[in-house]
Amino acid sequence: MSDNFEANLIRNTDNVVIVGGGLAGLFCALKLAPRPVTVISAAPLGQGASTAWAQGGIAAAVAEGDSAEAHAADTIAVGAGLVDETIALGIAREAGARIHDLLRYGVPFDRDLEGRLAVGREAAHSARRIVHVRGDMAGKAIMSALIEAVRATPSIRVIEGFAAEALLTDDGAVTGLQIRKIGDATAKPLTIASRAVVLATGGIGHLYAVTTNPAEASGLGLAIAARAGAVIADPEFVQFHPTAIMVGRDPAPLATEALRGEGATLINDKGERFMLARHPLAELAPRDIVARGVFAEIAAGHGAFLDAREALGAHFAAKFPTVHASCMAAGIDPAKQPIPVAPAAHYHMGGIAVDARGRTSLRGLWAGGEVSSTGAHGANRLASNSLLEAVVYAGRIAEDIEGQALAAPARLPDGSMSPRNGPMPALSERNLRTMMASHVGVIRDREHLAEAVRSFAALERDAGNIALRNMATTALLVASSAWARRESRGAHYRKDYPAERPELRHRTMTTLIAAREIAASLDRAPLRSPQPMIA
Ligand SMILES: Cc1cc2nc3c(=O)[nH]c(=O)nc-3n(C[C@H](O)[C@H](O)[C@H](O)COP(=O)(O)OP(=O)(O)OC[C@H]3O[C@@H](n4cnc5c(N)ncnc54)[C@H](O)[C@@H]3O)c2cc1C
Repeated sequence: MSDNFEANLIRNTDNVVIVGGGLAGLFCALKLAPRPVTVISAAPLGQGASTAWAQGGIAAAVAEGDSAEAHAADTIAVGAGLVDETIALGIAREAGARIHDLLRYGVPFDRDLEGRLAVGREAAHSARRIVHVRGDMAGKAIMSALIEAVRATPSIRVIEGFAAEALLTDDGAVTGLQIRKIGDATAKPLTIASRAVVLATGGIGHLYAVTTNPAEASGLGLAIAARAGAVIADPEFVQFHPTAIMVGRDPAPLATEALRGEGATLINDKGERFMLARHPLAELAPRDIVARGVFAEIAAGHGAFLDAREALGAHFAAKFPTVHASCMAAGIDPAKQPIPVAPAAHYHMGGIAVDARGRTSLRGLWAGGEVSSTGAHGANRLASNSLLEAVVYAGRIAEDIEGQALAAPARLPDGSMSPRNGPMPALSERNLRTMMASHVGVIRDREHLAEAVRSFAALERDAGNIALRNMATTALLVASSAWARRESRGAHYRKDYPAERPELRHRTMTTLIAAREIAASLDRAPLRSPQPMIA
């Protein structure tokens, strides 16, 4: 072991390390208290987490007349045949208890006049069951309550501004973690020895050129688990929000679906309502159908715009102040002008495969929140189920770790991993994100997926920058599984296989080795050059 390595080794006496400071990571840390834990967060707490941006709230069957069974039935209906029904019911049943935990940590959920939790309604829910805070402030309120609770808990050590870039393993078990200071590719990595690592690093939206997710949601947690050999589930299932506002901001602000609910229409640059020809419900069709309509219109060179001039006009600013402000900042007055929109990567149903306790296929590694795949969402996510899944599994992971005998000190990692890192080539990152959007996006086909698989496999092999290599790893897993699933189901749409195939009604379970094998088989196949998918 080199001196340098020794100097940069943190002997983590408590042995529990949580990577990620969103709902899943912070709730797990709080539930483990007073057991000492270390939380690593790429961004300072409160920033860089999708949790803070959640507007709707948390789905929980807490209202009179509603039931966990009804909630699970709605979840199963949306998941297009791939939801694990036992898991969905288990999550729905635990919702009430976890909401009460959040209340105890200080989340001020809205209440009705009788003091009961107020519940709102969202698309595809058969009952009013979304608990929320001051209308659309759920995410911000959850984060500020949890951060305050974490800062007041002496057993939780928080390391901010460091990203996990590799897991260290020994004989199939995780023994530690390699982390590096954000924004300094040449900084020396630090190694943390640990018997229990919990990955709670969020989603993958930032792998796409257009996304609603923060930059930290670039699939790094999924990549480091896959590189350590963990099984990955359903990576091809990515949910796209149909109407992100295209005003040159990254991430793109959302034009909420409520705008279409209020009568705003989708038009192209000729002023035609293109959704009328695509679905009887036109703009109010299911989210993935609207996303495909918008994508196809843009790909055909006609552009796509949300037109609220007639439906809202002068009332726009009062009714939708956030969207109004985003448009005005870009010089668009939505009361008088159509808003340019495009589909944006929003939520990843796939992730690190976990069992009902949050355990991954590697000993000593747990995963919770959006980075994991529990089977609860299947091929599509029911609105507001993601925060619920994150909080339920964070609680279960804490309980499972609590019951483990982790007393023996971790065998120190041997330092065999390369600490070298190259600079992040901005162009390669941009190209990867552009290719994910055009080749592995809303509408997919064999040729484009094959080209993406080859490109990401080469980047994953050759990239000198570890973050870029990890992004390519996750991109490869998504693209190769999308290539292998020769059907359309839920959020995964193949224009060469537009129908569901009953014989493919099963979840994908894959590994990085399997993804690389797909890439190698495509390298051996004759090349066919695809037509560009998007202008
Ligand atoms: C705009 C928007 C609105 C949404 N609205 C809703 C809603 O109303 N209801 C709902 O249920 N869901 C909603 N979702 C989805 C939901 O917010 C997320 O699925 C959920 O918050 C994920 O929580 P998490 O704890 O898994 O991850 P996050 O909250 O994303 O936290 C991830 C954490 O990991 C850190 N991190 C990432 N990579 C690394 C690394 N390599 N090393 C160290 N740290 C790392 C990040 O800095 C961050 O602290 C919305 C999502 C978006 C983007």
